[in-house]
Amino acid sequence: MNNSPQTPLPVQTALAAARETFGADHPLLAAWAPGRINIIGEHTDYNDGFVLPIAIDKVAALVGAPHADSFDVRLYSAHFHQSANFSAQQPPTHSAPQNLPLWARYISGVVAAFHEKNLPIHGFSAAIAGDVPLGSGMSSSAALVVAAAVWLNTAFSLQLSATQIAELAHNGEVIGSGVRVGLLDHLASALGRAGSAVLIDCRSLEYRYIPFQMSAVTLLSCESGVERSLATSAYNQRRSECESAVAAFSAALQSEQPQRAITALRDVTEYDLLRIGGLIPEIPRRRARHVITENARVFSAVDAMENNNSPILGNLILRSHASLRDDFEVSCPELDVIVELATHGGAYGARLTGAGFGGSALIFAPDSAVAAIINVLGGEYTQRCGKQSRVHTVAPAGGPNSAWL
Ligand code: ADP
Ligand code: MG
Repeated sequence: MNNSPQTPLPVQTALAAARETFGADHPLLAAWAPGRINIIGEHTDYNDGFVLPIAIDKVAALVGAPHADSFDVRLYSAHFHQSANFSAQQPPTHSAPQNLPLWARYISGVVAAFHEKNLPIHGFSAAIAGDVPLGSGMSSSAALVVAAAVWLNTAFSLQLSATQIAELAHNGEVIGSGVRVGLLDHLASALGRAGSAVLIDCRSLEYRYIPFQMSAVTLLSCESGVERSLATSAYNQRRSECESAVAAFSAALQSEQPQRAITALRDVTEYDLLRIGGLIPEIPRRRARHVITENARVFSAVDAMENNNSPILGNLILRSHASLRDDFEVSCPELDVIVELATHGGAYGARLTGAGFGGSALIFAPDSAVAAIINVLGGEYTQRCGKQSRVHTVAPAGGPNSAWL
């Protein structure tokens, strides 16, 4: 998190808003953090499994000044054209929102998370801007809370590590929004490295950078235009179905291998599935099959990336989608149509990303096919689904940063 002469556009937007809202007579600190897209490893994080996200070249930014002797927090959102104030000594939370709008509660939640860890912070004034599309599966919320945690870390000289920042940001999002999101998004943002994906073990939180330097390929994110209205209830249901699968495999393996601890689907192998899968009821068996095969696909994807083999990576992405659609049952007709149209248009592969039931799809394509894919997703998708898609190019970009301006 060193000074960098190159600041992303939202920093400029937030800087202009901060000057206008709070005045220009003191040095201003900028902090920014990226959104993310998960290449592969979907619905594996809460099964103690593996994920392979990239941080993307779209960020949330805070620009502002710490207050030396007051606990007043003053915020301004360039997106919502709105101000919000609270006391850093009593930050509003999801359960005690004190009339604070949701966007500001992400920040007050982060302030509360710093309090919980007894990290000494004061009040501050900051303007917020970003170019991660809101609510479309690129994790604008994680970008925002990680940027806030980085800002506080630098402003109050706290010397936190990237993993600590991810954990504080994650706690902040849960406290502020009341949604029990996973840690994946915050880790992906906080650990981002330009030109690399990051392989994360969601059990140990160990991670390894995998260079993403495949030649002549483009990553696209395509918003389906379908609200993720079912996503929260279905997400909770899938989580409990995975827990049932763990209990069923654990019971089935207990008599023959009593020394084996099966505490998550991470601990069940493809061999177990083939051998004793028939003893497990159908729904938990299919949910388990998705998670077990998806974990294996993450490692195959790492191999494909390291060997610059785009067709194989594309094939793994397609198989991930099929598994999410058929075994995990979290797709919807619109996402299936995006995958079909993208592959017909020449993509190596495409799949739903995030919780499912709407939101976005990831498309992995040769550069030469991008124009045709964008074209077909503009026209035929609307004809068939009656919805507008929105396609964004994404590239593996660097993690958070901060600079005094
Ligand atoms: P996602 O993380 O997939 O984009 P979420 O629903 O988790 O979608 O988070 C979106 C919410 O995060 C927004 O409604 C808003 O409250 C907040 N948010 C994200 N980015 C910004 C931003 N740049 N400015 C203000 N609020 C933001
Ligand atoms: Mg989010």
